[in-house]
Amino acid sequence: MASKEAQERKLKEIQEIAAGWGKILAAEAFPGGPSLDVTLADMEELAVAASRALVKGAVETMAQTQGAQFGQEAPCPTCGRMCSLKILPRPVVVRGGDAMLDEPVGHCPTCRRDFFPSAAGAED
Ligand SMILES: [Zn+2]
Repeated sequence: MASKEAQERKLKEIQEIAAGWGKILAAEAFPGGPSLDVTLADMEELAVAASRALVKGAVETMAQTQGAQFGQEAPCPTCGRMCSLKILPRPVVVRGGDAMLDEPVGHCPTCRRDFFPSAAGAED
């Protein structure tokens, strides 16, 4: 994990990029600018819908990239046997919207149980 200062700098950079996307979105939604009958509530609704889509795309991509780091197999947490992993979609509610996460899930035939490989083990 990066230092707190580096994390804050990165977050500010990402917020500036997202603010730029907001300007692009506005130009896309109203190429000549919004007409006088467009209310602030209309503008807000459009921006919130776009924001939810952004949260969904970002969270799904980050979770998928993270899940791929587990590889093809993981040890069963009960008996330690190496078990193959498969990717299963799981719907989740996150702040700002819904997302479908592709999660690695292992099944141990010895213990007859499913398990989720731990993130702590992935850093070893
Ligand atoms: Zn087991």
